[in-house]
Amino acid sequence: MVELKRSEEERALRLHREALVVDTHCDTLMQFLPQRSRGTPARHLGERSDRGHIDLPRMVEGGVTCQTFAMYTGTRAVVPEALLTALQMVDVFYREIEANEGIVPVTTPGEIIAAKKAGKVCGLLSLEGAEPLMGDLSLLRVFYRLGVRMLSFAWNWRTPFADGLYAKRSEGKLPDLGVKALEEMDMLGMVFDVSHLCDSCFWDVVDVKKGPFIASHSNCRAVCDHPRNLTDDMIRGLADHCGVMGMNFAPAFVDKHKATVERLVDHIDHSVKLVGPDHVGLGSDFDGIGSTPEGLEDVSKMPNITRELVRRGYGDEDILKILGGNHLRVFNEVLK
Ligand SMILES: [Zn+2]
Repeated sequence: MVELKRSEEERALRLHREALVVDTHCDTLMQFLPQRSRGTPARHLGERSDRGHIDLPRMVEGGVTCQTFAMYTGTRAVVPEALLTALQMVDVFYREIEANEGIVPVTTPGEIIAAKKAGKVCGLLSLEGAEPLMGDLSLLRVFYRLGVRMLSFAWNWRTPFADGLYAKRSEGKLPDLGVKALEEMDMLGMVFDVSHLCDSCFWDVVDVKKGPFIASHSNCRAVCDHPRNLTDDMIRGLADHCGVMGMNFAPAFVDKHKATVERLVDHIDHSVKLVGPDHVGLGSDFDGIGSTPEGLEDVSKMPNITRELVRRGYGDEDILKILGGNHLRVFNEVLK
């Protein structure tokens, strides 16, 4: 990282402290489940670890206000195991949070703001891939009651709700069940997430969805050509819905040659130049990615993004929007 002048460094740290820093995706819950942590002993939220990217001590150091914890079940099929894993993840989300004073589970923007005032971190529960819903809208309502406030219909494969990136049907449209689930989510007040959808289902969402949606962890395809990133037209479609894209730190989505915090901010620049400063935020994908960009080795390094935004001459207001204000705007509109 380029070193900042002292006044710039002070401004960056002040802004980062002031900001509601929102990260809309991590896969850390998997590492809290012994049976899902890939043969390594399960970690705990409250213990600083030299493994993985997120734990409470490092979140506090990185100045994160609200972290979305995704439940990714890793099954390719709609099988009862997916439901079981998701329910175990709901359990571990609450148990790990309740074991710590410094973090609270949240379901509304008001709770996020109150937690920030109280000097606490927030955890928001999301479901990545609708396999655990088993094609049944009643399970969508059950997961809502369990505190899930963000949902994507598919990981990379097919579910009864939509096609993921690598499971595209020839026509690629959202099935009726997907359209019904979008309506149900609007009624309940849940944030819809398009990351991992195939492009044609994305466009179907643009056509049928009312109000804002997010891409919780997707970058710009024009900066790094990867199918998990959004094309310029897709970014315009998301912006037309007043949505937000969360910048993903996965090196393959940042830069195929060398991923750095500077290259990540190039994606932010691109989105801002294309649709203005209101449609970009953070969605690290921490603990779901094997390696990290230089300068973003774990969540404690989050302030490096703010430093780079300051170095590039972004104004205070825009920096606060990018760090979390934009995502909070969507939460305000969608979550009841
Ligand atoms: Zn993902």
